Amino acid sequence: MSSPEISVVIPVYNEEESLPYLFGELYPVMSGLGRSFEIIFVNDGSRDRSLELLKDFCASHEEAAVIDLGANFGQHMAIMAGFDYAHGGKIITLDADLQNPPAEIPKLVAAMDEGHDVVGTYRVGRRDPIFRKVASRCVNKITNKIAKLHISDYGCMLRGYDRRIVDIINASRESTTFIPALAQKFAHNPVEIPVAHRERARGESKYGLFQLVRLNFDLMTSFSLVPLQLVTMAGMFFSLASVLLLAYMFVRRMFLGIEDWQTFIGQAFEAFEFMLASLTLFSLGIIGEYIGRIYREVSRRPRYSVREIYGRGKNE
Ligand code: UDP
Ligand code: MG
Repeated sequence: MSSPEISVVIPVYNEEESLPYLFGELYPVMSGLGRSFEIIFVNDGSRDRSLELLKDFCASHEEAAVIDLGANFGQHMAIMAGFDYAHGGKIITLDADLQNPPAEIPKLVAAMDEGHDVVGTYRVGRRDPIFRKVASRCVNKITNKIAKLHISDYGCMLRGYDRRIVDIINASRESTTFIPALAQKFAHNPVEIPVAHRERARGESKYGLFQLVRLNFDLMTSFSLVPLQLVTMAGMFFSLASVLLLAYMFVRRMFLGIEDWQTFIGQAFEAFEFMLASLTLFSLGIIGEYIGRIYREVSRRPRYSVREIYGRGKNE
């Protein structure tokens, strides 16, 4: 089978409600491009009827394939699995929940035709709960600073990548990652374009507060050692501050005689202990994040396991 011009990679986790609408919107857009294409769905361990729906779609559309993963490996690993199988010269990622309308795909393709090897997107009129929007804004800013990246909207997964970029991503063997950030690191000529955003009409978000925090820890620790260095600097700062504070208290005690010795010592100890305790916990947490990463890397487990592949690409 010859390689198609465009591959669309879609991670799917419990999206039975959205899928029929996704098929209905995506297929006409792709056919309308007048290019050869393939659609690769990655079933990320769904426990609902998603796999059945995907298989049905594949059976009637030769451009489609389903990679059925053996368990739930998370959105980014599911996309990785799709990347490993994608044959296209241009690869586009899209969420299954239709929050990013497939109708925006031609814009991405046009930008790639102009020679951009990574086409990022940012959501205009973002339709998400307010807490997600505010949190995202902070996280976008902090992450860009720390990881030395320039991505306006980390959460928008409607993105386009040139073959070369996807090959590099496939070759980097780290076991957890954040795909848009990884791609940005290798891009020669990236661009960002605005795309529309809709409310999730069906099913629920797969990211609760805990998953979002986890995702952002992964993002930070995979692209930067700054958090570790911040801890060291915070440690230095607080040590210095506590020495100064103690000196100040000592001077007050010696020359002004405000407190009696006992109160003085009690207060000094409390100040010191509180500071040390919080600092220690904080440092342990951050060091733990990195050790966790190292542990995952040295255990060299495969990033995902495939149960079965349906449709196109099966025999390649
Ligand atoms: N997803 C996945 N595995 C997961 C979580 C999510 O494949 O463990 C898929 C999900 O089906 C959707 C996309 O990743 O296609 C984005 O998920 P979601 O819409 O829940 O995230 P949000 O838009 O709330 O950030
Ligand atoms: Mg969504």
